[in-house]
Order: sequence, then C-alpha cells, then structure tokens
Amino acid sequence: MNISFYGATENVTGSKHLLEVNGFKLLLDCGAFQGKRAQSNLQNRNLPFDAREIDAVILSHAHLDHSGALPILVKNGFKGKIYCTLATKEIVKYILEDSAELQLQDAKYFNKHIRKESEAIEPLFSKEDVKNTLQKLTAVPYFRENNFYQIINENIKFKFLEAGHILGSAITVVEVIEKDAIKNLVYTGDLGRSESPILKSPEFPKENIDNLIIESTYGNKIHKPIVEAEKELQEIINFAVKQKSKIIVPAFALGRTQELIYILHKLTIQKRIPQIKIFIDSPMAINITELFDGHEKDFDFEWWQDFGKKNIDVFTAHNIYFTKSSQKSQEINNMQGPMIIISASGMCEGGRVLHHLKNNIGDKNNIILFAGYQAENTLGRRLRDGQNFARIFGRDYRVATKIMSLDELSAHADQQGLLKYIENCKNLKNLFLVHGEKQSLLELSKKAKEIIPSLSIDIPVQSQEFEI
Ligand SMILES: [Zn+2]
Repeated sequence: MNISFYGATENVTGSKHLLEVNGFKLLLDCGAFQGKRAQSNLQNRNLPFDAREIDAVILSHAHLDHSGALPILVKNGFKGKIYCTLATKEIVKYILEDSAELQLQDAKYFNKHIRKESEAIEPLFSKEDVKNTLQKLTAVPYFRENNFYQIINENIKFKFLEAGHILGSAITVVEVIEKDAIKNLVYTGDLGRSESPILKSPEFPKENIDNLIIESTYGNKIHKPIVEAEKELQEIINFAVKQKSKIIVPAFALGRTQELIYILHKLTIQKRIPQIKIFIDSPMAINITELFDGHEKDFDFEWWQDFGKKNIDVFTAHNIYFTKSSQKSQEINNMQGPMIIISASGMCEGGRVLHHLKNNIGDKNNIILFAGYQAENTLGRRLRDGQNFARIFGRDYRVATKIMSLDELSAHADQQGLLKYIENCKNLKNLFLVHGEKQSLLELSKKAKEIIPSLSIDIPVQSQEFEI
C-alpha cells in the first residue's frame, strides 16, 4: 500500500492523508487549511487530487482542520462514504454549517470593500454542499462498544479507538490484505491527554503495529497538570466574587466550553467556589453542549466519580444559564457581577464575545480570562500580549480589565504523551510525524529515535508519497 501526505505536513492545518490499497483510495481526514486569507483560500479551493477518484473517507474528529474541506470534496464529485463516530457525525453538522455561514458573510464583506470586480471571492462551499456532505456521513461505533471491525472492502477493514481529544474523536486502526500479507496502519488524528476532564483516555492498540501516523502539535512541550488549572480557576473566581467582577472567558464552542463548565460545576459541588452565575453565551456552544447529553457512555471514570454516580448532570445547575437568544444575551449587560461569561469565538475574532469585551473592557474591576491557544494576528493574542487598546467593530477601546490566562487546558497530548503512545505501539516499524511545526517535529523525532533506535522515522513534506 501507499500513503501520500497532502496536508498538516510541517504545519498544523489541512490534515489529508491518502492511503492506496490495490487501487482503492481511502482518505484519512479532509481538513481545511487555516491561516492568511489569500493563501489558505487558494489551497482549500484546489484539492491536490481528483475528488471523483477518492473511494471513501475516514474522519477522525469534527475540528475544521480535519473536516473543513469535506464539502469541497463533495462539491468536486466525491461519491463515497465518510466514516466517523456517532458523536462526530452529530457535531460536524454544526461545525460545517457554521463554516459555510462565516464564508458567506466573509465573501459579502470582502466583495463590498474591494474595488475591482475581478478580485471578488466566492465562498468555498455553500450550505447545500454541507447538506450533501452530511448525507454521506456513516456512523461507526468505537471498537470497545461491539468488538467489530468496519469492513470497507474485501481487502480493507478498520476500527476506531478512543483518541480522548474532543467528544467523538477517534484513532483509526486500518488493516489491509495485500499480496496475501496482512499489514496495518494507525492514524491518531489529534491525540488527547489521559487526565482531561469528561473524556476517556487515548486507547493503545493491543496488536503489533507496522505503521503509525501521529500528530505532533506539542512534540517539544510538556504541559502543566490539569489540576493546576482547577486551583488557578478557584483563586480567580474567589477573587472575582469579592470584587464583584465580571469574568469574560473567550472559549472555543467545542471542547473548551464544556471542560470549563465541568471544572466550575465540580468546584461548586466541592464548595471550593460559591455559586456564582455562569452564562454560556454562544449559540454554537449551546448546541454542542446539548449533544453531550446522551453521550455519557463516552465519558470517563472521573466523570462517574464526580457526577455520574451522584446522578448529577454536569451541564445543568441553577447557576448555569444558557442564553441562546440574542435578547437574553443582551440582558447580561445590565446585570451586576460577580459572574462568569463563557462566550465564543475563542480567539475574539467574532461572535458574541466581542459585545461582552466592548461593554466591559474599560472597567478595571473586570477580568478577561483566556483559556485556550491564541494565534498570532488575532485580537485575543494582542490582548494577551498586553496591548492597551482593543479595536472592536471598527472602534478603539481602552483596556482597563485584568488580563489572565489558564494555559493548562490543552486538548493535545504533550511530548511525554506522544512518546508514550509511540512506545505503546508494539513492534512498530515505520513512524510518520505530521500536524506539528518544524521544531516540534524535529524534537519529537529525536526523542522517539532515542527510545526506539530501530524505528524508521519520517517527517513527510507536502504531497510526499511512501510505499509501506
Ligand atoms: Zn482537533
């Protein structure tokens, strides 16, 4: 079989890895490139292969950098099935619909402000393309649920293991028969952390593994333990309660918002913080949080200890308010602190969080708490770096609030977690490192070689093909 790498090579976006077995083309993820507008637009518009020739797709999880080019694939003539877990199937609907809407708005805004007609842009895909994509999603249970492999054809079958990254995330183990020999390949997608709240820990394959494609986002970093985040959050909230502050938390709608609710609810039950008002003010975050109900079988033992066995719903408490309508959202402005407002987008690039920043950023009594990664050239990054004004909806606002950050809540395994995964793939022969910046890839490669000197390690470049 052959594997070609068409995205997330020496960077972290656009995951697309193409496996070819006896002429059958199986695509592992079909993510969108993200970054500077012109470049990523061009990369996303022109798929590196003929969509009509792809026979099937396996989707590791719902994040846009793994799923965001699926509607482009379908628009260009892909006719096969897209396999994913049930939770991914449910979540990716919201992610892709939101992406189509944002592109529409973005194209309208861009086209209104440019001078030359020839430079006008079109959205990469429409809501109709998303609808056609969703029809191709085929839910497959995790292997732990039924011990069955999903058969793709007479030569290819696969199973899903837990990836522990976000709800529904899966590690794929593909087994193929080629020239009467059986070979396998593991693709981690994005790999989570064993101590993350709510989700189960990443699962190791039990069999011998020939090939492993592993993500490397934090190949050169060690995370602080998540319990540190709980302690920090406890201190910040107790401080805010005394000061009657409003704490604004820009948070990703998928994953980080639910983790924060989990930790805050747990701290309240343990009486480590008082019952402070918590607003979840993002329609997408609310939709996704609702999906968590019904997926308790995907939650971990820690959840069982903290909530499950006490029959408490993590996401329901009388101090947690879900403000779906914009009227309810606006009402928050007139309320007095203390309170926590968890809102999207996570990097302050759009969404309702901008209204809360605009209304509260000038008051030194308030706090902006960053709980996730802030990319360069985003308002979130500028605020975190201490810029003393914020440009919101075309106007500059003076920053008087306290700026704080919780850095422990990463959803990706760190260097130790990645190496542990590599070590636990028994008799591993070939290792491919993807989804990482150069430094991260190089350091992880060096460490892996020290641990398993016999291992063949590659850091694929864009469009590189390997016979495995
Ligand atoms: Zn991800």
